[in-house]
Amino acid sequence: MNSYERVFAAYNNKDFDSFPALNPTSIITYELMKNNNAFFPSAHLHPIETYDLAVAGHKELGFDSLSPYFSIHLEAAALGAKIDFSFKKGMPQVIEKPIKKIDDFTLPKNFLEKKEYIEFNKIIKKLNQKYNKKVPIIGKVIGPWTLAYHLFGVENLIMQTILNPNVIKNFIKELSYSPINFAKQQFENGADFVVWADHVTCDLVSPQIYEEFVLPIHQQAMAELSHYGPIILHVCGNLEDRIDKLSLSNMDMLHIDSRNDYAQSKNKMIKKMELIGFINNPYLLRKGNPKDIRKETIKLLKQGVKFVAPECAIPFNVPNENLIELTTTLHSYNLNTIEQINI
Ligand SMILES: [Zn+2]
Repeated sequence: MNSYERVFAAYNNKDFDSFPALNPTSIITYELMKNNNAFFPSAHLHPIETYDLAVAGHKELGFDSLSPYFSIHLEAAALGAKIDFSFKKGMPQVIEKPIKKIDDFTLPKNFLEKKEYIEFNKIIKKLNQKYNKKVPIIGKVIGPWTLAYHLFGVENLIMQTILNPNVIKNFIKELSYSPINFAKQQFENGADFVVWADHVTCDLVSPQIYEEFVLPIHQQAMAELSHYGPIILHVCGNLEDRIDKLSLSNMDMLHIDSRNDYAQSKNKMIKKMELIGFINNPYLLRKGNPKDIRKETIKLLKQGVKFVAPECAIPFNVPNENLIELTTTLHSYNLNTIEQINI
């Protein structure tokens, strides 16, 4: 099976030759940048460098996917946030939020014509020309809640949910036109999955805020997007108190981190979503050795996780050999052979 066939067989509950190694978020290491002479920060915005690094994740590290969106800042930059893209070994940061007042906020009419949207669509298209039906292409959009953090600020946003809930609801709805339309474009240009990153995490918002302010928007988005292709919702952190609500979003997969237990997460979901992730980045991938990675991967596979993956964008100093060990281990087993392994 090629990567595309393997991933979609697993996704559609059909037989697959080996477990798929899918990476919804960035797996770009400093080693990978050096090998490809493509470095952050320019690789966030430079189409050739972005393309080369996405391909290297497949060719050098063995992932069954091409994920060309490494940060979470393209749309915010396009919509007027001042972003510091200067970090060589760190992700970009928002340094100035453009929106001070949100009453009557509307997105600029031709926002999809901003270069960040156009250039990213071109990269998806170029990947599709070479890898169509061979390697799944994973696009990404930033959900309205995260966009609101970037454009208006976390504290402002939380405060206004209490003071002006209806204004915030309109604001979030208006912002959602960005991920909805950007996701449609990415699918039309050849993306096979689109990650929807929305940081409704437990350290920032309550499950009730998610339910009241964001869930209806997620459901509306899915009413428009579900026939385009699978959407992977990415939310970091412990999701124990909200996974039931997240599961009502109608999104197809949930990218989930290592603070969550697979069986418990499955049990708590009201509507079943395919879960992907569970591999710890800062300790296991960064500080562990290949033997540790192998052991944890096998443990997760034996628990029933079909899509074992890094939990979020990985730190830059993860050794390539650890990622190669992850993909090699996944490719060494399938549903039948994993049962016979003892750990
Ligand atoms: Zn994350």
